[in-house]
Amino acid sequence: MANALSILKDVFGYGAFRGPQADIVDHVVAGGDALVLMPTGGGKSLCYQIPALARQQAGHGITIVVSPLIALMHDQVGALHELGVEAAFLNSTLSMEEANAVERKMMRGELTMVYAAPERITTPRFLDLLDTLQAKGQLSLFAIDEAHCVSQWGHDFRPEYRALALLHERYAGVPRIALTATADGTTRADIVQHLQLQEARQFVSSFDRPNIRYAIEEKKDASLQLLRFIEREHAGEAGIVYCQSRKRVEEVAAMLCKEGMDALPYHAGLDPEVRQRHQDRFLREEGVVMTATIAFGMGIDKPDVRFVAHLDLPKNIEGYYQETGRAGRDGLPSDAWMAYGLQDVVNQRRMIDESPAPDEFKQVLRGKLDALLALAEATDCRRVRLLGYFGEPSQPCGNCDNCLQPPAVWDGTEAARMLLSTIYRVQQANNLHFGAGHVMDILRGKVTDKVKQFGHESLSTFGIGAHFSEQQLRGVLRQLIATGALAVDASAFNTLHLTAGSRAVLKGEQPVQLRESISQPAGRARRERGSGKSAPSAAAASLTADGQERFAALKAWRTGVAKQHNLPAYVIFHDATLAAIAALDPKSLGELEGVSGIGAAKLDKYGPGVLDALQALA
Ligand code: ADP
Ligand code: ZN
Repeated sequence: MANALSILKDVFGYGAFRGPQADIVDHVVAGGDALVLMPTGGGKSLCYQIPALARQQAGHGITIVVSPLIALMHDQVGALHELGVEAAFLNSTLSMEEANAVERKMMRGELTMVYAAPERITTPRFLDLLDTLQAKGQLSLFAIDEAHCVSQWGHDFRPEYRALALLHERYAGVPRIALTATADGTTRADIVQHLQLQEARQFVSSFDRPNIRYAIEEKKDASLQLLRFIEREHAGEAGIVYCQSRKRVEEVAAMLCKEGMDALPYHAGLDPEVRQRHQDRFLREEGVVMTATIAFGMGIDKPDVRFVAHLDLPKNIEGYYQETGRAGRDGLPSDAWMAYGLQDVVNQRRMIDESPAPDEFKQVLRGKLDALLALAEATDCRRVRLLGYFGEPSQPCGNCDNCLQPPAVWDGTEAARMLLSTIYRVQQANNLHFGAGHVMDILRGKVTDKVKQFGHESLSTFGIGAHFSEQQLRGVLRQLIATGALAVDASAFNTLHLTAGSRAVLKGEQPVQLRESISQPAGRARRERGSGKSAPSAAAASLTADGQERFAALKAWRTGVAKQHNLPAYVIFHDATLAAIAALDPKSLGELEGVSGIGAAKLDKYGPGVLDALQALA
């Protein structure tokens, strides 16, 4: 273990292992199989990279890293090169000669790690290479990243991942470490089964991401709300905005650009080259807002994503947590913000109803959606609910919207009963079903053409809910639909139907609690941690004025170096490392040594440049 710790310090420049990392590394270095469940940003990469280095030093040879995304391998390997580690990738972006050169290095024992996608690893050609290495005792370890891809319950099912069971069958003596940030039980069981990891030790970390602030607000004008949120909390910072459809992605990106933001669209309908270009810009430049469908994000390890916004409701909590988890990998304050409304509930329910999946499958999907809806409707701590969903008990967090500004709650039971009985009555009177707008018009006593046409002024509930605003009633309807006390028939103009669950509400047995609609966006809590365009970045917030100046100079230096190396800036140094240097104001290489994030290779390569950049200021 002393060796692993010295690798952590010398190569990565970090002083100590985090959480369960030490145990995992220990177990894998000794040749054990492991299944690692750790939230995004928890530090999974080190869990296989350090064993790869330690086992190679001990003469076990090469580590094969299974990575699902060809588009990211270049940067993953580039980051290792920056640390002075011999690594390479094998994928279709390489020419035949380049690929051959990598294979030769592999066979000569010159590489510590090779990254490849599962499709390649299971080809006869690649397996031949592995056979040869195995025969020489030079096949050290398999690391299977994003292991949830093996599960159809996850959100990124990749059938090719299932073929990886072959690694165990063919190379039984070679240890394997599978890693994922997806925690729920079904997915976990699938990973164990399909990768044959029954014997592997499981390491399950806390899934809490304390630096992420969760907020879910009622959707009114979603685009405007998003704009306000970004302007208020994250002007000039990098973030991801998730939307459900390609069209919406394009619209929102255009809207943000029109407002002067550096926003780019990303979805499966764009040309692969355009997608790659946008992804590169997001990774390499500062302050880009990626507007995307869920096609974007897996494997993105940009540490300084300061916010993740959802303009549409995801399908389930796993998806929501995975997507929001892309914020704040560097541990600095970040936001997960969502706008959510009646239409979201209707859309998600409809997508399940209309999907061709078998009924039991739909039942699972409905259960998962219900859990997410309960989170969205919640008036208590969001984090307690999120962690509870993953089986982790916790206390109110003090860092979510409901904790920071406990919502005023109003009793919507009366309104709910009026709505349900109106729906009941129109159904009785005409044997017809109507949509939300008409039902609310009746209750609020509006004499519309439709009301006249069907004679609905004569219903006993006509006008009895005039004291409720349309927004209040909409909120009640949303919650009734979210909790299943009311159904929407999407195949018939979104008409409303009573359900088995309506009875308890109608009879007043089940109270309906709603948050008071907040007409002003909640920006109060944020001001303490700085806001607005001139605010210092999250990393530099605690620096003095001189420190800020040094930080800015270091960032400018880093931009140049990153360009030169064709790598994202954070691969050179993280913001947090630059901030630590700026605070220290070192005058010599000796002083730089020991700053978190500066290992031996980076000290050699960049130490003099850093000192020069600071010198130039003095
Ligand atoms: P994950 O893959 O779990 O999302 P990463 O492996 O990308 O997380 O690690 C997240 C960040 O934390 C990275 O920037 C990494 O360098 C940093 N990190 C990981 N382990 C440590 C540690 N022991 N000390 C300091 N920083 C660490
Ligand atoms: Zn909370």
